[in-house]
Amino acid sequence: MPRQVHLTACQTVTITTVVDNSADALLPSTPHLRRWPLADCPLLAEPGLALHVQASAQGRTYQLLLDAGATRQALPYNLPRLGLDARQLDALILSHGHPDHVAAVLDLLGLANHPLPVVVHPAAFRAPGGEQDGAASSLDRRSWELAGAQLVESAEPLLVGPALISGSIPRQAEPGGTPLATSWPEPVPDEQALVFKLASKGLVVITGCGHAGLLNILRHAQELTGVQRIYAVVGGFHLGRAPAQLVDHTIAALKALRPEVLLPAHCTGSEALERLMAALPGQCLRNSVGSALTLGAAPG
Ligand SMILES: [Zn+2]
Ligand SMILES: [Zn+2]
Repeated sequence: MPRQVHLTACQTVTITTVVDNSADALLPSTPHLRRWPLADCPLLAEPGLALHVQASAQGRTYQLLLDAGATRQALPYNLPRLGLDARQLDALILSHGHPDHVAAVLDLLGLANHPLPVVVHPAAFRAPGGEQDGAASSLDRRSWELAGAQLVESAEPLLVGPALISGSIPRQAEPGGTPLATSWPEPVPDEQALVFKLASKGLVVITGCGHAGLLNILRHAQELTGVQRIYAVVGGFHLGRAPAQLVDHTIAALKALRPEVLLPAHCTGSEALERLMAALPGQCLRNSVGSALTLGAAPG
């Protein structure tokens, strides 16, 4: 059992998709999920991820960015068009070191134009093959620091304001032996998730790729915080190449957890997404670049 951390409760958490695999301007808005208007400037999609998170807690607003996309085009193009100002960011959190999550770090640091904490698992610098293979990483620590990154390397859970960065995520198995690990063949030891506690709702868990296995990530968030209620799950569910029984298992477990909101993105996979949408109607929503999900506020 990992050491528990005390999370400050947030009044609202708003997650804006800056970079994701698809941009569908025809998706309808809902009271809590505002779509990027069709009439506005089109946004760029790419097979990568960057999520802007704004959280209000104890009278303060925190702005974080989880990940930095797959190219150096989409993030710097989309961010200002979405009305988001990198100069206001409190930190950049990297979910792991894969290139579809870190490509525009230098561009973001340039837009931020101030020394910016960059929270990263130390094993990310030994990506992509994990700690054992000693492969050179595509992450460039030196150029990031020269561009203003204040690197915060931690394999342990870490707090940035009301946000919990999970640190290393243990892979567990069901008592009956069903592996909850993902189909991804690499260990990806550097993966970490972003977790918030939403006042009187429960946990908001935001994943990058979900290589650790979505259920492992949710369980780790519960154990770290001592909060059992999973209110919302947003990000990559990493079921794109998963065998059917693993998708079945994940859907059954999510049904039992009864989250209020699921927003699968990035590497969830189109087949798995359709199955999630069918199995959890009303809870599961389609993501698109520019979508802004507001949790905790009264419907506007
Ligand atoms: Zn990845
Ligand atoms: Zn990815």
